[in-house]
Amino acid sequence: MAIRPILYSENPLLRRKSRKVQRVTEEVEELIQDMFETMRAANGVGLAAVQIGVPLRVIVVGIPEDVEDPAAGTTLSLINPEIVRASPEVEEGVEGCLSVPGWAGNVPRHVEITVRGLDRKGKPVRMKARGYLARVLQHEIDHTEGILFLDRATEVWPVEEGEEEKVEAAAVGMGPRRGA
Ligand code: ZN
Repeated sequence: MAIRPILYSENPLLRRKSRKVQRVTEEVEELIQDMFETMRAANGVGLAAVQIGVPLRVIVVGIPEDVEDPAAGTTLSLINPEIVRASPEVEEGVEGCLSVPGWAGNVPRHVEITVRGLDRKGKPVRMKARGYLARVLQHEIDHTEGILFLDRATEVWPVEEGEEEKVEAAAVGMGPRRGA
């Protein structure tokens, strides 16, 4: 396992659509492990493969145990994730992004979504997510389409190093966390 460097928003790769994974190989398994390690080292709650320079449709999510949310402790990886249903109901919430350090913004997201994809063994999975987990999934799936939260935000503002945590904690009602 290895922590890999995270790309920043000026990197054109972040604007490209990621490719579908054709076969779930050992390399994909290794990629997922590196993504988890990189995400945790950066205090993130989610990461897409393209953020570490691999333009494949792979995302990981890790909601810490100590947050007040029904999704607390959720850890998952998804290959070729796809939103197949989204509630018409939308709510705004504060987001940050590991690829956009120093910025936060208000982003409208669907409150509930149904996502399908493959697990790390290549088995098809389908899941429903609400609230914060649904937000993180939408943020990560956007990365696979070359979309950053800045594109969807109704408002963005600069945050000081370390202040990101306060902003997110205040707005999302969670413990100190940073971007995804
Ligand atoms: Zn992000």
